[in-house]
Amino acid sequence: MIHHIERAPGKRACGVCGASAKYVKLDGRFERTFLGVPVGFKPQEIVLHGHLQVCFWCEARVREPIPFADGKSRCLRALGRYIVGLCGITTIKNVATLMGVSWDLVKDLFKADLEVRHKRKPLRKVRYLAVDEFSTHKGHKYMTTAMDLETGEILYAQEGKDAEALIPFLKRLKRAKAPLKAVAMDMSAAFANAVRDVFGATVDIVNDTFHVVALASKAIDETRKDLVRKLEGEEKKVIKGTKFLLLKGKENLNPEGMTRLMQLMAANEPLYKVYLLKEELRTFWRLPNEEAGKAFLDRWTAEARATGNKHFTKLANTLDEHRPGLLAYFRHWISTAKMEGTNNKIKVLKRQAYGFRDMAFFKLRLYFLHERSIMMPG
Ligand SMILES: [Zn+2]
Repeated sequence: MIHHIERAPGKRACGVCGASAKYVKLDGRFERTFLGVPVGFKPQEIVLHGHLQVCFWCEARVREPIPFADGKSRCLRALGRYIVGLCGITTIKNVATLMGVSWDLVKDLFKADLEVRHKRKPLRKVRYLAVDEFSTHKGHKYMTTAMDLETGEILYAQEGKDAEALIPFLKRLKRAKAPLKAVAMDMSAAFANAVRDVFGATVDIVNDTFHVVALASKAIDETRKDLVRKLEGEEKKVIKGTKFLLLKGKENLNPEGMTRLMQLMAANEPLYKVYLLKEELRTFWRLPNEEAGKAFLDRWTAEARATGNKHFTKLANTLDEHRPGLLAYFRHWISTAKMEGTNNKIKVLKRQAYGFRDMAFFKLRLYFLHERSIMMPG
């Protein structure tokens, strides 16, 4: 459907020098074609038969202003809003196909909208953060992200995984006078140093469940590997291929897995001891208060050292080093779990990001990941 339109010749001031309407007259024509919001499956084309206007004062001869489209855009502003709305529920590719426009056009509209909304996001209410990194290029490039744990929004994303990657954001929070209380993170020093650098000791660091349990899993797997190397014959056979039995939480094993685990434990006492330690460590975050936490850590680290297992002794040392960060959990009750929960969404997004051709766009989409209810690759 093609619509021909012409603006009623009203009073218009000079857009160049600002002279009032009485010094401006219409002189000459121009034509521009726009895309409108489709009606059903019918695309709508709008042909504007425009006027040129000449100013008596500055002698500029320019096109009359167009109130329903931006700059050189071929889209009506209404179509732009419609396209952006659709981007919230399906992929760019689907929107482009549905609207009969190019992928790039949809992307540009979507990106511009996200940019505006991201700039408007206030930081002055942020109280609890989680920071973490994920790999963008198969383990040799990383991106650091920070999430508001109360709203689930990713507020910041930056290439790199060192303190430098996080500091600019923390400074912005400080300038915005955010009442930041605590930051959940892994046990590496980089993020902790960044928080200390910017906020001193006023903000607590919480070393969370996810990363500590991951270390315990690694310790038990190393123990298993040592045994496989050391043992022979029948004993070695029992242990080989048990990695997932050992790493899974007990409650996630099926009856067959449980039986196999029992057999394994009966056959190997040192492995049994550290397995119990690993499972017990997971209960730390269910304790009622800091006092119970302190008692737990004292006992757990002593038992871990008593096994003589070098991987668990090392873990006990790590937990001692991070004791304040572990106990801080009982003051704030936060973890990076929510952030780990979005990792699947990020994975889908990574596939959609076409090899990160546009890093700024990728980051903007991270900032609005919490809004997307439907995610499909494409
Ligand atoms: Zn003028």
